[in-house]
Amino acid sequence: MRAAVLHGVGEIQLEERPRPEPGHREVLVRVDSVGTCGSDVHYYEHGRIGDFVVESPLVLGHEPSGTVVAGGAGATRHRRGQRVSLEPGVPDFTCPQCLAGRYNLCPRMRFFGTPPIDGAFSEYVVVREEFAYAVPDSLSDDAAALIEPLSVGVWACAKARVGPGTRVLVTGAGPVGLLCMQAALAFGAVEVMITDVNPVRLRLARELGASATLDVRDGRLSEAGFDPDVLLECSGHPAAIGEAVRAVARAGRVVLVGMGGEEIPLPLAHVQTRELEVTGTFRYANTWPRAIALAASGRVQLDALVTGHYGLAEVEQALKAGGRDPEVVKAVVRPQE
Ligand SMILES: [Zn+2]
Repeated sequence: MRAAVLHGVGEIQLEERPRPEPGHREVLVRVDSVGTCGSDVHYYEHGRIGDFVVESPLVLGHEPSGTVVAGGAGATRHRRGQRVSLEPGVPDFTCPQCLAGRYNLCPRMRFFGTPPIDGAFSEYVVVREEFAYAVPDSLSDDAAALIEPLSVGVWACAKARVGPGTRVLVTGAGPVGLLCMQAALAFGAVEVMITDVNPVRLRLARELGASATLDVRDGRLSEAGFDPDVLLECSGHPAAIGEAVRAVARAGRVVLVGMGGEEIPLPLAHVQTRELEVTGTFRYANTWPRAIALAASGRVQLDALVTGHYGLAEVEQALKAGGRDPEVVKAVVRPQE
């Protein structure tokens, strides 16, 4: 099979590799669509994210959908030909975090496209059968792939306890911000404001249901007259985070979704006097069934985020697309092409 392999900073080569064999209770999946993510771009451009360092050739890509083509010993969950969305991280199922149900915090998580585990920019992958989720035929291959970033939004909304009538501010209208916004609406939020500096993305946000948008080059959040119950921070910009936290209403919840570097200034007196809850999120746990249901019902639009398709030989172009063109939202790789 062919795979797109990262060999060093800014260097991806298309290679022939042996097709993987599904092991015990694993399925072999032909990969049909893979979303590209900011973390893929970061590994491609810098060779590391924090403590995760690319030290040997690595296949990126962790937002895959595909079709089950074979099962290993004991795999009974899927028939051949079943279309699936893949949850791209498999924990050890035995550590204290896993046993507490927080498998996203498993220290021995094996996550696609995170060193040293190969990802899905390849024609085939194997995965534990429980982490391949059947999708209805109403969901496109791209939508089935984007269940992964939608899961980030579902997890953030669950952490923030978004419910009927919650007022939500989303900072950053990239793919994750747009999916946090849509997830918040699906969870029952009625007022959802989203901010960015990219008018193309803000227009898309309005089309997808944002009740208000703010281009922070044109106006200040503090003058927008909006004091949300929940902040879903998806920009990762230290300056934006402090200003957004100051807008949050008393007893509000702040969920840090975007990667903002090692340290950021936090308006601590504001957090204390308003009794704000501030938490991070790391990936997700138990989100696939809910995310698939939201997408299949039409409550969340996933195909609307896709702005370009790339074959397996064009992974580098896919990873560079966002930096070159402000109209790019989500570039999708089609490994069979
Ligand atoms: Zn574990």
